[in-house]
Amino acid sequence: MIFPKKPFTKSKIDRILRKELQQDLSFRSGKIIGSMCSDPPAFCSRIFRRYIGKNLGDPGLCPGTAKIEQQAVEMLGSLLGNPHAAGVFTTGGTEANILALLTAKKLSPSNRREVILSDCAHFSFIKAAEMMDLKLIFIPHKEDFSIDVEAAAAAITENTLALIGIAGTTGTGAVDDIPALGALAEKHGVYLHTDAAFGGFVLPFLEKAGFPSKPFDFSIPGVSSVTIDPHKMGRGVTPGGCILYRSAEIAERAAFPVSYLSGGKTKHLTLVGTRSGAAVLADWAQIVRLGESGYVKIVKKSMLLAHSLAERLNQIDGIRCVKEPELNVVAFCSTKTDNEILSKRLRAKGWALSFFGEYLRIVVMPHVTEKAVRCFLRDLRKITETENA
Ligand code: PLP
Repeated sequence: MIFPKKPFTKSKIDRILRKELQQDLSFRSGKIIGSMCSDPPAFCSRIFRRYIGKNLGDPGLCPGTAKIEQQAVEMLGSLLGNPHAAGVFTTGGTEANILALLTAKKLSPSNRREVILSDCAHFSFIKAAEMMDLKLIFIPHKEDFSIDVEAAAAAITENTLALIGIAGTTGTGAVDDIPALGALAEKHGVYLHTDAAFGGFVLPFLEKAGFPSKPFDFSIPGVSSVTIDPHKMGRGVTPGGCILYRSAEIAERAAFPVSYLSGGKTKHLTLVGTRSGAAVLADWAQIVRLGESGYVKIVKKSMLLAHSLAERLNQIDGIRCVKEPELNVVAFCSTKTDNEILSKRLRAKGWALSFFGEYLRIVVMPHVTEKAVRCFLRDLRKITETENA
C-alpha cells in the first residue's frame, strides 16, 4: 500500500478495518488459551478511551496523571513488600527487564558484563544483552523448571554484573528459588533482578486463594528490582508493565535527565519518551477497583481451573503435563508424537496456544473458561486418538 494522495472516507476506513481484522483471533472466542494477556474489563477500557491523549513522556503537561502513576507505583511497591519502592510504568515486561539490566550496568562499579539467568528466562534478556553488549550465562533448569542455584553460584565470577530470578517462567510458570539467589547476590555484591512479569499479580494472592506461594519480592534481601506487568494477570490494559527499584536512590541513578519539557527539567525512567498516560490511569483504576480481595478471587478461579486442566490432560493417553502447575500456567507434551505437529493440529482446529519445543503451554487467564477447556480437551483427545490408532 502506498501513502494515500487523497483522504479515505470514514466509512471506507471502517470497512477496511472490519474486513482485515476478521482474521484476528478474539479473546471472546475462547480459543486464545496460550496468551498471558486478556481483554481488559469494560470499565478499564472506558477509562483508557476517556484519557487516550495523556502523554506521560511530558509529565509537566499532566501532573495529575503523573501523581496517579506515583500512587500506582506505591501500591505495587507495597504489594511487593516495599512501600518505599520507586519506579515507573513501562510498555511491558520487555522494557522493564531491559531497564533492570541497564540500571545494573549504571550501578556497577566496574565494567562487568556477565548476567546469570535460567535457560527458561524470557527472550527480553537476549534483546537487552544485544543492546548493551552483555554476556548471558544460561544455567540449566532443574526438573521443576526452576534455576539450578548451585550451578548459578558456580558461575559467579568477578565479571558478574547481575543475577536474574524468575517468579513465573514464561513456559511453565516455575518460580526460581529467589531467597537463595538473594543470598548469593548479597554475598558477592551483585545486582539481583526478579522478573515477576507474570507471577507478580499471582504469587501475592496465592495463599489467600488456598494455594502454596513462594517468596520472590523485595521482602528478600538482595533483590534490587522487580518487573511486574499489569497487562498480564493485573487485568489491566496493554501496554502496561512496571519496573520497581528497591529505593529512590537506585531509581535516581537509573533516571535519564531531560531538560526541555513543559514542566522544566525532568527525568525519564523509561526507555521510551512519549508514553501512554491512559494505560497507567486504566491500570491504577483496575488495581483500586479489584483490591486484594478481587485479585484473590481471580487467582483462585484461574488456579482451580489450571489444576483441574492438568489433571484431565494427564488422563489422556499420550499426553503428559511436564510440571504440576505452580501458577496458572499448564505445560504439557505428547509422549507419542512430535510436539510441533501436535501444536499445528491444534492450531488447525482454531486453538491458539504456545509451542516451546519440548512442550506446549496453556495460560489459564481469567478469560479461559471451563467450557473452553472442555472443548479444547475434546479436540485434543480426538487428535491423540487418531495418532494412537
Ligand atoms: N518476562 C516474562 C516472565 C514473560 O513471561 C514475559 C512475556 O511473556 C515478559 C517478561 C515480557 O513481557 P512483554 O511481552 O510484556 O514485554
